Amino acid sequence: MNKTAGYRFTIIVPVFNEEDNMYTLEKRLSAFLPECREKACVLFVNDGSTDASAERIREVCSRNPDFFHIGFVRNAGLSAALKAGIDYTESEYLGYMDADLQTAPEDFNLLLEHIADYTMVTGIRANRKDTLFKRFQSKFANGFRRMMTHDGATDTGCPLKVLHTDAAKRLPLFKGMHRFLPALVLLQDGGCYKQVAVRHFPRTAGKSKFHLWNRLAGPFADCFAYRWMKPRYINYKVGETDLV
Ligand code: UDP
Ligand code: MG
Repeated sequence: MNKTAGYRFTIIVPVFNEEDNMYTLEKRLSAFLPECREKACVLFVNDGSTDASAERIREVCSRNPDFFHIGFVRNAGLSAALKAGIDYTESEYLGYMDADLQTAPEDFNLLLEHIADYTMVTGIRANRKDTLFKRFQSKFANGFRRMMTHDGATDTGCPLKVLHTDAAKRLPLFKGMHRFLPALVLLQDGGCYKQVAVRHFPRTAGKSKFHLWNRLAGPFADCFAYRWMKPRYINYKVGETDLV
């Protein structure tokens, strides 16, 4: 058991070179925790940052008793950071948001309201505050992915999601999987998700880590991998056991 087991909800925040966002994150998250619908903690996953993020994460965690962190030895990518967050979470629910605060932690409450009835509740970025070019890439990618996976998801890239931890731990995880969470949830027996509109803000500090190529080429190939995986996905129901 680790410290997240003492909470109902763990907020995973992947961090890669976000030194200029750490203090704002601290302010926003520490203000939100007492307002959260569930007893919540924060789990920063430092994905091998090469700037001052690691020191700032340690500093922020040392003065907030409900903030914890994991630090990678070297950069392993956003999917790896999310997987580590999921692997290390022991609260009943988990959620994730980006460190750049393009989504508001307060909107976790909108998602948590429905989590008892769904495997996952995901945000849809209303009035998206990204460049026209980025929104165009996203529209194109979302359309192609929907056609290939039939996941029906409007905005899988939205960095505000809440899941049942046990279901999250059973998701097949691979690089780029954070863009396929609705489709992956639907593979599970009884898996279902709900979409809720959340607010979106421009990135005010630090730099985006993704560009046209890694935003489109990887996901394009992943759509075919998903089609391969779908009929092969393993589900089983245990009728009885004397293990517990
Ligand atoms: N991130 C990470 N590892 C990486 C790249 C990004 O942990 O290798 C984190 C980053 O710090 C941020 C989140 O993933 O919290 C999303 O990244 P970003 O905002 O750059 O992506 P965008 O919103 O531009 O798609
Ligand atoms: Mg961002």
